[in-house]
Amino acid sequence: MKLQTDYIDFYLFHSIDARKWRNVILRFDLLDKIEAAKQAGKIGYIGFSFHGGFNEFKEIVDGYDNWDLCQIQYNYMDIEKQAGTKGLKYAAGKGLPVVIMEPLLGGLLANPPKEIRKDFEEYGGGRSPADWALQWLWNQPEVTLVLSGMNAMQQVEENLRSADALKINAMSKEDLAFIDRIRKKYEEKRAIPCTGCNYCMPCPNGVEIPRSFKFYNDCLMHDDLVSTRKTYAFWKRGQASACIACKACEEKCPQRIPISQWMPKVHALLG
Ligand code: SF4
Ligand code: SF4
Repeated sequence: MKLQTDYIDFYLFHSIDARKWRNVILRFDLLDKIEAAKQAGKIGYIGFSFHGGFNEFKEIVDGYDNWDLCQIQYNYMDIEKQAGTKGLKYAAGKGLPVVIMEPLLGGLLANPPKEIRKDFEEYGGGRSPADWALQWLWNQPEVTLVLSGMNAMQQVEENLRSADALKINAMSKEDLAFIDRIRKKYEEKRAIPCTGCNYCMPCPNGVEIPRSFKFYNDCLMHDDLVSTRKTYAFWKRGQASACIACKACEEKCPQRIPISQWMPKVHALLG
């Protein structure tokens, strides 16, 4: 009723992970309900958008035979994060169309820090960092559709020019190696060698350790203090300031990160 339409083309379960899949969608029989809506002609296609790890993604893809599409976060920095390249190939291998969100990582890849921008200027053949990021996605035959957020006419025009030039399986080995070098350069800007393995969790004092480190590293990687501070402020639960340096987490960390020493630095930068 709120949408003022009696028909929805694509209906996605929004931002699911294993927890929402099991505790909400399966628990409340939402698949039966959405199928009934489709049969009643109210919905054209059923899908889900996803934020979680590969195993969770696989569980959801395999958990229902009638998905029409899925939507994942994916870009040249996220090849091993969330569903990642493995998830993209897995879903596509099962014939499931894959829609890509965050192709420019919330716009960060369109505005790289200056040392990375210099690499694009030297190697990029006059193409913008955003165009490189989009072409890298379209190059992959498993990608069905790329969704790119735009908030200015100039971005719409740039994206249209990029889309006009898109080709599948056409990037040269040198171009792919260039993107690999860019990724590596971003990653070298990370200060804390946290892999996000979660072995240190839970913290008895409620600190979200891997997430705190991710914020810190992302901030350095993208030279993006302003928006990282905003996100950190929004995300109140589990901030680094709750650390009391008990060190209970440190012996569990395979990377031997001095977590209790990093937490005050994380909060000093982002808090
Ligand atoms: S040192 Fe800090 S982060 Fe680690 S377990 Fe103790 S309170 Fe949590
Ligand atoms: S155990 Fe170490 S590497 Fe793993 S998430 Fe925790 S801090 Fe990061």
